[in-house]
Amino acid sequence: MMLLRLLMMMRLFSLFLLIASLSEALPHDWAESVLRELDDIDERVNKRASRKRCGAENTDAVYWTDRTNSHFHELMSNVSYANWNYLTNMTKYNARALEDLEAQVDAWFKTNVGTARRFLRDADRICHGTTVKLLRKFVNYQLVPAPANPTTHRLISYLVNSMQQVYSTAVIVDEERNMKRYRMNPELTRLMATSRDFDERQWAWTEWHDVVGRQIRPLFIELVVRMNEAATDNGYRDIGEAWQMSDYDSTDVEATMDRLYQQILPLYRQLHAYVRHRLVDYYRHRNLNISGSIPAHLLGDMWAQDWTSIIDIVLPEEMYKQSEMDAALRRAGYSVKKMFRLAEEFFTSLGFDKMTADFWRKSVFVRSPLDDTAMDCHASAHDFLADNDFRVKMCAEVNAADLQTVHHELGHVAYFMQYRHQPALFRTGANAAFHEAVGDTVAMSVMTPHHWRGVVLGRRMPAPRSRHLPGPGTDLSFLLRMALSRVALLPYAYVLEKWRYAVFRGRLTPSQYNTGYWKLRERYQGVKAPVSRASTDFDPGAKFHVAANIPYSRYFLSAIVQFQLHAALCRTDKHVEQLHTCDIYRSPAAGNRLRKAMSLGASRPWPEVLKIITGYGDIRADRMLEYFRPLMVWLRLKNRGYPVGW
Ligand SMILES: [Zn+2]
Repeated sequence: MMLLRLLMMMRLFSLFLLIASLSEALPHDWAESVLRELDDIDERVNKRASRKRCGAENTDAVYWTDRTNSHFHELMSNVSYANWNYLTNMTKYNARALEDLEAQVDAWFKTNVGTARRFLRDADRICHGTTVKLLRKFVNYQLVPAPANPTTHRLISYLVNSMQQVYSTAVIVDEERNMKRYRMNPELTRLMATSRDFDERQWAWTEWHDVVGRQIRPLFIELVVRMNEAATDNGYRDIGEAWQMSDYDSTDVEATMDRLYQQILPLYRQLHAYVRHRLVDYYRHRNLNISGSIPAHLLGDMWAQDWTSIIDIVLPEEMYKQSEMDAALRRAGYSVKKMFRLAEEFFTSLGFDKMTADFWRKSVFVRSPLDDTAMDCHASAHDFLADNDFRVKMCAEVNAADLQTVHHELGHVAYFMQYRHQPALFRTGANAAFHEAVGDTVAMSVMTPHHWRGVVLGRRMPAPRSRHLPGPGTDLSFLLRMALSRVALLPYAYVLEKWRYAVFRGRLTPSQYNTGYWKLRERYQGVKAPVSRASTDFDPGAKFHVAANIPYSRYFLSAIVQFQLHAALCRTDKHVEQLHTCDIYRSPAAGNRLRKAMSLGASRPWPEVLKIITGYGDIRADRMLEYFRPLMVWLRLKNRGYPVGW
């Protein structure tokens, strides 16, 4: 055991030396050398350990884990197919089929988690390092661990599927205008992106929150009780702790988010102040408060989380507009399929494999307006843990926002393909935020004015006098656009997860759910409800990830990590100019490094994986701040004479 510790220490130390010497001059193959080093040390640990004669416990653990992993593989593959069937055709039959399978998986986990825990209690006697890692992954794998009472599990599955169905099938009807029906996708998404009518937006916001939130409220209240029961049955304090262990192998996620929020707050306050005074000008007959919180229905989408679509309002006249980018895409002959081909080509230019034949054959890219099948339109990517079957589900349209989403989803698929050779338990991201970050990192290059003009629009570039060509405002309008999506997201994501952690911990009771939510939004995001809300309303339930019971910290952390990845990959590509101008297209060096890290899946702790790409192992906001530095200067200038903060 001592030897093992010593070797472990050696490994850390030599890694440190390697990193320290690398940070001065990075040879192009340094990621390989870090990995070689790690593998060498692993091998030595395993060899020494086997020389000291591993006992029967070791053999038992290795065989048991191997068998369990195979069984896990088969079960998860079945769940993934059932999940796909349900999401693309939300019938009661498909819901039941999914619930049945989930119940099976849960029962199976319950039978086996005890054994895994028993092996882990004597982890020192297991010489095979990978087995210990697989066992740890197995124990924390489920977001909602198997409760002692099987009925509880059945209820949890039912509640989540019902909430998801409420969200996906909700329709609001405009009774004053031809009884027009609006679903979230595509009608409401389009309305919130394009309507500039204050009252129409407020109507859509209020109806959606009333219709969806109020139906989800009783289901959610029950779900919290049941999930906490499952968590405490498994030794977690509450379900929030189980989520954190499952996504990050640690329980300090809230503290990390607190720290990062404080770091980006000065930038967010400037962005918030600038957007606010532009909105005050734009809706000048509405007497908006120039120094207070902004009404949530005016900020780009239903949740005030991505403000990109109001760029037309906030940009000074001389800069290029969002609608022009959308029109340029259509003029250049893009279809949704062609947007996917474009994204695929970026990934292959970095050395990634092409998408598989199954991907093109079986994915859902668009939703026909005539199709009345109840389908969950929230864009998602699916790994079926079967040979070549990877798919995307999306109801895409041809516009710049969806082009980014296409890259985001392809990032997930590229990740699935990259770690497909790992044991099933490791076929997931280094942590949940990494999985979200890959596609967005790539999209950061795609959306640069240089790449947009040269590659996306290619030969069909607009006329030479167009504002799409380089000009004084081009870089700043691009940066502002990026900030409206990435910077604006952070306080929203922070609040949503902080609110759920408080709910899970019992700090907010059901009668305080909605008021507590708006207190946090006003305090941290500077956003308020557009109409007065009652404690019987349930506005968080009008958000997909609450209805679908998916953690949100991963989006917060991803928005920060992607700037770390972008900066490191640009450095690999020897980019020396300002960070926001970097485009890693056709850079095999950057691609190599990214692919290496992704191919590890979850087989190594995420700080090690982050280190392989960046040279350091913690999540920090400094690269994001560096990226937006020119914008920060510009915002300060524009905000002169206006109040900042709320
Ligand atoms: Zn995603």
